[in-house]
Amino acid sequence: MKLVLILFLLSSFPLLTSCGGSSGGDGDQLQENTGGSTGGDGAEIIFDSELSEAERQALKESTSAIANYDIDGSQVSRFSQIFGGNRSSSVVKFFEERVNYGLSENTDLIARLVIQPGPAFSQTDLAIIANNPSSGLWFASKLSEPDDLKIKINNQLIDINSSRIGVMRFGTNFTVIETVQQAIVLVHEARHSDCTGGILASDLERLRNQTDMIENTCGHAHDLCSDGPYAGQFACDSHPWGAYAVSAVYSLAIADTCTNCSETDKAIAMTMHFDSASRFLIFNYEDMLNGEFGSPDMSSSNEVRQDL
Ligand SMILES: [Zn+2]
Repeated sequence: MKLVLILFLLSSFPLLTSCGGSSGGDGDQLQENTGGSTGGDGAEIIFDSELSEAERQALKESTSAIANYDIDGSQVSRFSQIFGGNRSSSVVKFFEERVNYGLSENTDLIARLVIQPGPAFSQTDLAIIANNPSSGLWFASKLSEPDDLKIKINNQLIDINSSRIGVMRFGTNFTVIETVQQAIVLVHEARHSDCTGGILASDLERLRNQTDMIENTCGHAHDLCSDGPYAGQFACDSHPWGAYAVSAVYSLAIADTCTNCSETDKAIAMTMHFDSASRFLIFNYEDMLNGEFGSPDMSSSNEVRQDL
C-alpha cells in the first residue's frame, strides 16, 4: 500500500516570518538527550535536534517576547474570547496548547514518519518561513488507520492522535525578521493546530483522493485570495475566526496596548494588524468582530463527523 501524505501549507504569511527561542536555562543538559527547548521564561517549544543555532535563537527570542509583552487585551475586541484572558500569560497558554515541537525546514518531515509497518510517503518540498503541518499530519494519521502513524523527533516516536500534536517548521527566513513579527506569526500559526468542530468523514475521503476539503475549519486552512497583493495565493480566509483573525487581534493588542514595546515594534505590529485584517474573503473583518458570525470557537476536536 502506498499512501500519499497530504501536507497542507497552512501558514502562508508571505511577507512575514515567525518566532524564536533556543535552548536556554537547563537546555544544555536537556539537549544531550533531546534537542533542547526554548526554556527560560517564554512559551515553550521542544527543539528538534536538526534545528540550526540561528533557528533556535530566533525561537528563543520570539517565544520570550510572547511571554513578556506587557499588553492589555481588555482594550481589544475579542481578545479575551480568543486567548482566554487579557494578558500575555493567556497568549502563552494558547500557544503551548497548540505548538509543541520545532523542526527545521531542512528536515525531511516524511522521513520522520513511522508506521508499523510503514508504507511509502511522499511530500512536496517546501520553501518556508514558518508553517504548521500539524493538521495535515493528523489527517495522514487518520488515513493510515489501522496502521499507527507516528513521528520521530529527537529519537522518540510520538503519537499523532490530534491536530494539536503541534509540530511546526521554521526556515531560514524566519530567523531574519524582527522578533515582533516572529511572535505574531507564531501565534497565527498556532491557530492552524485547531480542528474546530472535527473533520467530515467525506473530507477525509476527499483527502484520500487528493482533492480539496469542503470545510476548512479543521486546520483553519486558507483560501485563494481573489485580488490584492496576495491574489492567487492561499493567503486569505473565507471563514470567520481563523488564523488571520487571531493574528489581527493579537497584533492590534501589541500595537495599541503594549507598554514595554518599542515604538518601532508597535508600528510593525500595526502594519501586521492591517495586513491580517485585510485577508478576508466574502465578509469583512469588522462584521466578524461585531459578531455577525458569532463568537470565536477556539476548540479543537478529534471527531470524525459521519456524513457519508
Ligand atoms: Zn496561516
